[in-house]
Amino acid sequence: MEKNRELVLAETLLRDPTLLKILEIMVEEREIAPQIRLEHGIEYPKMKMFPEWQEKIRKLIELGLVEEKIAERVIECPYCGKIHVGTRFKCPSCGSINMIKTEIIQHVTCGFVDTKLKFLRQPKKESEEQLICPNCKVSLREEGVDYRVLGEIFECIDCGRRADRPKIHFICRECGKEFNILTAKYKAVYMYRTTDYGVKLLKSGILIRNLILLSLSSKGFQVEKNATLKGISGVNHRFDIVVKADQSLIGVDYRPIASAELQITDLLAHIAKFMDFPDIKYIYVTDSSSESIRKVASSQGVNLVSGKSITEILNQILTLVKKFKERKEIKA
Ligand SMILES: [Zn+2]
Ligand SMILES: [Zn+2]
Ligand SMILES: [Zn+2]
Repeated sequence: MEKNRELVLAETLLRDPTLLKILEIMVEEREIAPQIRLEHGIEYPKMKMFPEWQEKIRKLIELGLVEEKIAERVIECPYCGKIHVGTRFKCPSCGSINMIKTEIIQHVTCGFVDTKLKFLRQPKKESEEQLICPNCKVSLREEGVDYRVLGEIFECIDCGRRADRPKIHFICRECGKEFNILTAKYKAVYMYRTTDYGVKLLKSGILIRNLILLSLSSKGFQVEKNATLKGISGVNHRFDIVVKADQSLIGVDYRPIASAELQITDLLAHIAKFMDFPDIKYIYVTDSSSESIRKVASSQGVNLVSGKSITEILNQILTLVKKFKERKEIKA
């Protein structure tokens, strides 16, 4: 069952190189988060080069390779859809935007109580203001001594209405239209994370081996997965894929890269295997390769394939296999 699912998955990805590329990026990044800026809106920098990435991410979610999570919510203009939105505190009575927070002050000396807005002001040193009681005209000196702050409240400068809280309105800085809490869109912004299954599929090489297999068979090559061949020494060796092109055999192995040192050890082991088959062509596939790795491979007649993307790797393998087949045909 599981094998079937993986082959179907590989088929889907082979048909859609963009989907495959996005999966590669997702596995590399593990997760991609939105960048939210008022004037730019919501962006995913890693996906910038793919205009249709959202549709592709949906597909990867359906396939169980990626999952989404709400990362943030933003107020979106219900008229133009932009998130460049300002907030206004409005008076519940007259609708003025001059609904400001103030303190309720009691002048202990004379007993007068009103909001700070109603107290008189006189300039003090260093841009500070001196409050003066409007009732007895005496300057307020020290909080807790000659005056007390009884609480905070919002007050409309225009109509004098007081309230615990203002009415919240929003103004779209793009289209200029105003809306309120009830008409605002409170939009979810998602982040995307590669599932463990998605990571495993790529890192283990299961997907790439299936893709190599399918890309070759779709071009009419006869391929066998997990094939065992007997070498001239009489020892059986396993190959990820064996391509039968007319009379000749091509062995293909994909090895995910663990570290530079392990890569050279692994390549040497595979060269030893290849030496046991003087008549076959051999392709060693890996994610990336250094100059020295390529030198070792070419000195031993091993065709080393690596590339920046899976699509690039698949194309290189296809080109090589076609070339081997043509050479054989010319010789024959
Ligand atoms: Zn708008
Ligand atoms: Zn008002
Ligand atoms: Zn007073």
